[in-house]
Parts: sequence; structure tokens; C-alpha cells
Amino acid sequence: MKKKVYFKTFGCRTNLYDSQVMMSSMKDYEITQNEEEADAIVINSCTVTNGADTHVRSYISQVEKNNDGAKIFLTGCGAHTKGESLLKENRVHGVFGQSEKNKIDALLKKEQPFYDPGDLNHVDESVVDDFVGKSRAFIKVQEGCNFRCSYCIIPFVRGDARSMDETRILEQITRLALNGFGEFILTGTNVGSYGQDTNTSLVKLMKKISQIRGVRRIRLGSVEPIQISDEFLEILDEPWLEKHMHIALQHTSPQMLKLMNRRNVYKQDRELFELLADKGFAIGTDFIAGHPGESEALWLEGMKNARELPLTHIHAFTYSKRDGTKSATMKPEVNGKVAKERLHEIQDLIEEKNLAFRKAFRGELEILVESYKDGLYHGFDQHFNKIAVESQEDLVGNWINVKDYEVMKEHNYVKF
Ligand code: SF4
Repeated sequence: MKKKVYFKTFGCRTNLYDSQVMMSSMKDYEITQNEEEADAIVINSCTVTNGADTHVRSYISQVEKNNDGAKIFLTGCGAHTKGESLLKENRVHGVFGQSEKNKIDALLKKEQPFYDPGDLNHVDESVVDDFVGKSRAFIKVQEGCNFRCSYCIIPFVRGDARSMDETRILEQITRLALNGFGEFILTGTNVGSYGQDTNTSLVKLMKKISQIRGVRRIRLGSVEPIQISDEFLEILDEPWLEKHMHIALQHTSPQMLKLMNRRNVYKQDRELFELLADKGFAIGTDFIAGHPGESEALWLEGMKNARELPLTHIHAFTYSKRDGTKSATMKPEVNGKVAKERLHEIQDLIEEKNLAFRKAFRGELEILVESYKDGLYHGFDQHFNKIAVESQEDLVGNWINVKDYEVMKEHNYVKF
């Protein structure tokens, strides 16, 4: 009988992707969904904040309590920051970098404790064919980041930006499109830097993807404002480009952006967002509330600017300290309670803006239905807004267009 392995994934989409690759490369072991019966547990860790490290440590303690016979393996970003110490403390059996993930069978078989951090400049060659239960496929096009935002540890654990091989990406998408996938989300640590090292560009890649038979919609995980080049502006009217863009600002106060060592500048961000909004795009962003140095005055300025931006979606977080980054030593820090209040303030603002956007939209929604739960189908439209669909037909995986629908506070709603 094959030994059983349980995968525990923390953190971002890149980790979800890497876990998927490990699971599909594994031949000699069986995957289990029950961690208590596992012979081995692979923790694909995140180290983005000190809090993320704590989660990994407490998860290890939990495994030690509930299944002390299981061998624990650590991979992901935490392998580079906490791997050695966890190995020394005997809390894990093996540590390996994400570049080693294709060798998962051999790593799991190692009898002796090991530390194999791999190569931070590794370019991924894995091809994932399918995302079970999903109608959208996530395609990793690059890895690593050349930016040095002062609060971020990622470039130190994921390395500098490097692009995946174009032929492999196109092959992967062709295969997925044949399997019925119509929407592709291009992801990576810093997606917009795709092609800089291989003498091409994200736009050129997207144009090639759009020509693959079966590809209906392309979405980008996230781009930086300065990556929306003139070449990019030329594809804004293409029907295959989702009418939603996620552009990472992180803050809307010019001074805070400087403190955070960001490359975007508020005035230009605003011009860009207005141009996109005029073209009918819904626009999402990332935002950190409570970074050190965010005085009341800077916060108010940031909120005033955010109000003026045509934003419709937000991923907002409170600042969380990460040792080894510049921001971790910056003063004055913002009180945690204040940071939380600010977080809610900006989230509420964008919620209102999202509702206003949905109410003002007069066209047809193009929906990809993804799931069925509690008597309703759920999907996303071209603006990346959620819609609940009541229907007698089985719609999962289908594209539907609707004109008359109800705009509700949380999401849109339609009977189909
Ligand atoms: S752009 Fe900034 S926040 Fe994003 S991964 Fe790079 S350094 Fe980190």
C-alpha cells in the first residue's frame, strides 16, 4: 500500500500553484485529505509577515499533537527564513526550496533529516493541466521580484524576477483550453515584469494567448502601475482582456509611498486609473493600512485621495511586521487598534464604490459560472463582481450573458 501524504498550503496563489505541481508530480505516494492518517505532511509555507511564521509554527505543534508519527517536510518561502532553525530544533524532518518541488517523491523518501534550499534563480518548467473543480485556470508566468518595497521580504525568499518559458506557457494554455477552460489568470510574484529578462513583454504574451482556440477571457493577477506601458494601453479595447484590472498601489498618500519605497506616484496613478475607468474597467488594488509613519494627517490625505480614485475592489491589510525588512525598524509605529479602524474605513469606502459602480453599469454581464452552493449558482462577471444565479439548469462551467439582473449590496443576482 502506498504511503499517504497530506499537503498544507499557506499563503498566496503561487503557493497554491506549487502545491498543485507537487501533487501532480507525486507518483509513489497517495494524497490524503485527512492529516491525522498521513504518513508525511508537506507544509508549503508563507513567511510574508512575522504572523505567517507563527502560523506555520503553531501548525507544526498541532501536527505534533494529533499525529506525532508523521514526518513533517517544510517548503515554500518559510523554508528560506525558518527552515534551518526548525530543522535544528528537530521539528521538521526535511526542508526544501520550491525549486525542488518536482523531485517530491525522492525528497519524501529521504531517511536522514535534510536541508535543501534549492536555487533562488530557478525558472519553473512545470506544466499544470487542470484545476479540479474550477472553471478558471491560474497560469504562473513568472517568479520573483526586482522591486524592493520596504515592508516586503518576498524578493529575498523568491529571488529576482525571471520569466517562465513562453512555449511552455502557451502549450499549457492550449491544453487547458482543450479541456474546456475559457478564462486564464496570469499570475506570478510580479506578473508585470514578465518578459523583461527574455526580451519580450506581458502584452506580447497576452496577444499570443488570445489567439489560442477556446481562450475567452484573460485576466492578470496583479500589475504595478508603472508596468502599464504604452504598449499595454493599446490592448485596453481588446475583447479578450477582462474589464477588470488589479493594480497594486499599496497606499494613496505620496509620502507613504516614498516611505514604503514604492515605485508608483499618486498623481500618475490617478491619471492612469481615470483613463482605465473611462474605458469601462473596474479597478482593484492592494492597500496596506497602518505602516510605520502613517500619521493621522497622512492617513486622512490617503483617504481623501482614495475617495477620488475610481476604485471598485480592494485587498486591504493592516501592516504586519516582517523581521529583516526596512519597515520593521521604522518609527513611529501605528497602534494596532488604529490600524484596524483604518483598514475598515478604506474597505467600507471601496464597498460603497463597488455598489455605485454596479448600479451605474448599463450593459450586459458576461458571467462564468463557477460553483453551486445552497441552491444557487455563483460566478464572476467581466468586472470581477460576484453574481448569484437561480436556475433549474446545471450551469457550472458555463458562460452566460444577462441583461436584467438585480444589484444587491453584497453581489448581483439573477434568475436564469
Ligand atoms: S512589488 Fe513590492 S510588495 Fe510586491 S513582491 Fe515586489 S517587493 Fe514585495
